Amino acid sequence: MVTLVKGDITKLAVDAIVNAANTSLLGGGGVDGAIHRAGGPAILEECKKIRAKQGGCATGKAVITTAGLLPAKFVIHTVGPVWNGGQQGERELLASCYRSSLQVAVANGVKTIAFPNISTGIYGFPKPEAAGIAIKEVQQYLADENPLHEVFFVCFDDENYSLYKERLGWNKA
Ligand code: ADP
Repeated sequence: MVTLVKGDITKLAVDAIVNAANTSLLGGGGVDGAIHRAGGPAILEECKKIRAKQGGCATGKAVITTAGLLPAKFVIHTVGPVWNGGQQGERELLASCYRSSLQVAVANGVKTIAFPNISTGIYGFPKPEAAGIAIKEVQQYLADENPLHEVFFVCFDDENYSLYKERLGWNKA
């Protein structure tokens, strides 16, 4: 099941929230900053351990840590592509973020997961296209047999919320 939510992803009591991280895993602005601020230092501690072991996280891949003080159990950190005109594999890399995050989720027993609108903030991916890719990847993943119960799309800004509402066929306000 797919559910659309407007608001702050750090407030959701789901098994895992996804972070739009950067390759360093050391935190940044936007949703990344909000997650580390609300979740406390335990998240960064684990990110640093992953960094020491495997040198951060490549674009399109995902890693998992504790959620620290957040109501969620885990944070799945995925690294979206920086939009650079669309000729640098950005679309496939964004699709890969959703797939990798879902794979990591299932591998860790996650049943409910919430995604922010990866790459549509500081990384500048065009929002309409990003919404289409996100929805397609998640719906494809859910169409195959898998143990996920619910996937939330969490939209922080009005533009993304309207785009998702339209594309998911939601007519409710
Ligand atoms: P990126 O670098 O991948 O573009 P950003 O964090 O800048 O990541 O933006 C990704 C999306 O996250 C944007 O659509 C932004 O509006 C949204 N966002 C920012 N803060 C939050 C939050 N607290 N909860 C959910 N989404 C958020």
